[in-house]
Amino acid sequence: MTFKALVVEKAEDGSTQASVQMLEESRLPDGDVTVAVDYSTLNYKDGLCLGSGGGLVRTYPHVPGIDFAGTVETSSDARYKPGDKVVLTGWRVGEAWWGGYAQKARVKADWLVPLPEGLTTRDAMAIGTAGFTSMLAVMALEDHGLKPDNGPVLVTGAAGGVGSVATAILAHLGYEVAAVTGRPETEDYLKGLGASRIVPREELAETVKRPLESETWAGCIDAVGGAMLARVLGQMKYRASVAAVGLAGGAALPATVVPFLLRGVNLLGIDSVLQPYDNRLRAWSRLAQDLPLDKLRDMVFPATLSDLPELGAAILKGGVKGRAVVDVN
Ligand code: NDP
Repeated sequence: MTFKALVVEKAEDGSTQASVQMLEESRLPDGDVTVAVDYSTLNYKDGLCLGSGGGLVRTYPHVPGIDFAGTVETSSDARYKPGDKVVLTGWRVGEAWWGGYAQKARVKADWLVPLPEGLTTRDAMAIGTAGFTSMLAVMALEDHGLKPDNGPVLVTGAAGGVGSVATAILAHLGYEVAAVTGRPETEDYLKGLGASRIVPREELAETVKRPLESETWAGCIDAVGGAMLARVLGQMKYRASVAAVGLAGGAALPATVVPFLLRGVNLLGIDSVLQPYDNRLRAWSRLAQDLPLDKLRDMVFPATLSDLPELGAAILKGGVKGRAVVDVN
């Protein structure tokens, strides 16, 4: 029994090479549930794991793919039976464990969630970790008091995966969305997802000069970090919150504490990898309800396993628009 997989191998000189190969099923890692994968997707982390690994991959040869959706083939865990549709995001699958860039995956039952009603396995991967994380960020902002009447919500890195889904969800929920992008050519795309205005990246690129600027944003979902996040903190309205999701623009935070002390601004950390099961179910059910499928389908482009090395390099340069859905078969 063999299956197709995208395998990353490491040479003695430390360079890595990714290629599509046929593997024996006996090479699958240990786990309770074997899944016939339908689709996977592409996130920033996948870009790292498709190349040199960015310190995330433990051993080679490696099968990347931090997300997958498919059908249970065999299960030794009572929660899942053959034929069940399942989704996996996070838990370091595709980094420390073999992931979804393959026709088969074997994982712990604890890491899976049932495919939410109303979504296909393709929709679930159009969402993927990027979309799941966007919903966790929306939920965190709501839990801290965000409502559509509070004012405009800023989304940074808006044309990327996290930003695209965040824009579509917020607009659908009735928020006025301001989308920050460094790619002016994505304006029509972002407005199509529901953004009411575009903020050019340069406007927020300069480092903080004044710790407080005028109170502009009622909330923010930030995929960029770095100098941009620092600037945004000083522009938040009184007691507003920023959900910090990503570091596409840098891991440093060259900010002052003044927005926290004088405006009661909240900085909320969002982690998708180790989210508890109940919150995962809540986020997936909200995605099925609050992310319009026509908008989701507008942000998707199809890909195959052999497209991934090139796409992985592109996402690391901020050059991917929207969400890739990878048909692994
Ligand atoms: P993408 O590459 O799809 O999107 C990132 C976007 O950020 C780009 O499209 C670009 O948007 C913008 N960007 C890129 N480089 C820069 C830069 N130097 N300065 C300012 N903006 C920049 O990645 P994802 O959406 O998949 O992920 C976004 C971030 O979120 C990543 O850092 C990722 O690691 C993180 N992440 C975190 C998760 C968590 O659990 N906390 C889960 C998922 C992702 P534009 O072209 O519109 O300017």
